[in-house]
Amino acid sequence: MIKKVLVANRGEIAVRVIRSCKEMGIKTVAVYSDADRTSQHVLHADEAYHIGPSPSLESYLNIDKIIQVAKESGADAVHPGYGFLSENTKFSDRCKLEGIKFVGPSAYSIANMGDKITARKTMIAAGVPVVPGTVDMVHSEEEALKTIEEIGLPVMIKASAGGGGKGMRLIKKAEEVTSGLRAARSEAKAAFNDDSVYIEKYIESPHHIEFQVLADSHGNAIHLFERECSVQRRHQKIIEETPSPILTHEKRMEMGAHAVAAAKAVNYEGAGTIEFIVDNDLNYYFLEMNTRLQVEHPITEMVVGVDLVKEQINIANGLPLTLKQDELTQTGHAIECRIYAEDPDNNFMPAPGQVTHIETPSGLGVRVDGYIYEGFVIPMYYDPLIAKLVVWGSTREESIQRTLRALHEFKVTGVKNNVRFLERIALADDFVKGNYNTHFIEDNFDFLMGGKEQNMQDDDVVSIAAFVEYLDRIGELKPKYEPATALNSWQKLKRARSARNARF
Ligand code: ADP
Ligand code: ADP
Ligand code: MG
Repeated sequence: MIKKVLVANRGEIAVRVIRSCKEMGIKTVAVYSDADRTSQHVLHADEAYHIGPSPSLESYLNIDKIIQVAKESGADAVHPGYGFLSENTKFSDRCKLEGIKFVGPSAYSIANMGDKITARKTMIAAGVPVVPGTVDMVHSEEEALKTIEEIGLPVMIKASAGGGGKGMRLIKKAEEVTSGLRAARSEAKAAFNDDSVYIEKYIESPHHIEFQVLADSHGNAIHLFERECSVQRRHQKIIEETPSPILTHEKRMEMGAHAVAAAKAVNYEGAGTIEFIVDNDLNYYFLEMNTRLQVEHPITEMVVGVDLVKEQINIANGLPLTLKQDELTQTGHAIECRIYAEDPDNNFMPAPGQVTHIETPSGLGVRVDGYIYEGFVIPMYYDPLIAKLVVWGSTREESIQRTLRALHEFKVTGVKNNVRFLERIALADDFVKGNYNTHFIEDNFDFLMGGKEQNMQDDDVVSIAAFVEYLDRIGELKPKYEPATALNSWQKLKRARSARNARF
């Protein structure tokens, strides 16, 4: 049985994993780069080891160094989180070789699903529907044009090694094939060191709906229902919810069965996600499998009532699943908002830097998975995620109201962030009606970017008004005292107050 886990990751997901280990009585080992010396994952773990300079290649992706720390600290297992080494077959193999348990699937499953071309072939053989397109990699423009003749425009050129929305190009006209191929290839080469690409039909106005699966080493596999992930920018998710507002019970069960079949087709072991793309008539197609814990896993935990990290560890321990498919239900509704240090006014450019003040929401049905505290410098080297706000409600309506309430409580200063942008999403008519697809953000862009004058929150306005009145009453509001000056002194007062609070 696993007694000590090295968490080969950073930030919120490392903290998340450490929390479950603690509850299971398992010791934890953190690793950190130069930029992360004071990160919360270091503070939460039982032990912490410095593994190198800030760039991931020299730290969180340094297999030799991480294995060395695992041995030095006596860790008997490694949890890779998501990103970094989580889908790296060399790492999973190396752990096995060194007698360290890898909390995740075998190198065989990762390799079969990590490469999208191979995965598509495997799914076709397993009877799981895939998006119409090429079976093999596309080598030339001629091949690409031939495929386009067969399946028709528009199409997507996609990197076989793709992930995180990278290496993907939409082709609407035949003239765009040359430049599209070149762009997808070079992006894939730079991001994944592999420039193989393939072509699939572009599904118009689709939904991205994924299924959580769990499979043990005894041949049992189940699904834990879906997550609706269609609120995306640049093919990257920012809000996820479950249940999906568009699925019927029958469709959910049918897709779930296909998700389980997909996992079984690669002898999957552990927690994984089968992503589907779904059209307006609820036809669905396999997109890819993520052979790891997903960023958005908490919404499943909230409605199904399981701890997915504990399930992962039990599976790694060789225990059979105790959850039974026909005993699982979805209770209520959950929404996750990804809170990023980024600038919505500037094409969502990452905006790392020092967080001067942070106030996270709490109260009934609110969970915040984060790792940032006042004064922490969000490094420029990694994903600028500040926290994940996860909210549970008994109905979808309540869940949306609670999301708005919690976003309102969420205060981050010092770095640009998308809290107000997320608030606008939760207010948008199409979102509230559950009437949205992956084009939601572009379709509603004006509304989402609007309301700047309302960005100043109601309670701020009330406080300013009260302060101005107060100044007026004590006779300080001289004619030269413009409203802007009043606002300025109010802000100073507020900063002084929060600095004072911080000291207690
Ligand atoms: P999710 O589906 O949970 O949103 P993503 O697919 O966006 O996850 O990826 C999560 C993290 O893993 C991101 O930081 C992304 O850049 C990284 N990632 C995903 N796939 C790969 C890959 N094949 N190679 C390198 N990094 C990847
Ligand atoms: P990644 O590995 O980067 O996560 P995916 O294959 O999962 O890539 O696709 C990410 C997103 O890109 C999808 O959620 C969807 O919004 C869009 N997308 C991918 N393939 C298609 C397609 N064939 N038609 C329309 N949109 C697509
Ligand atoms: Mg994906």
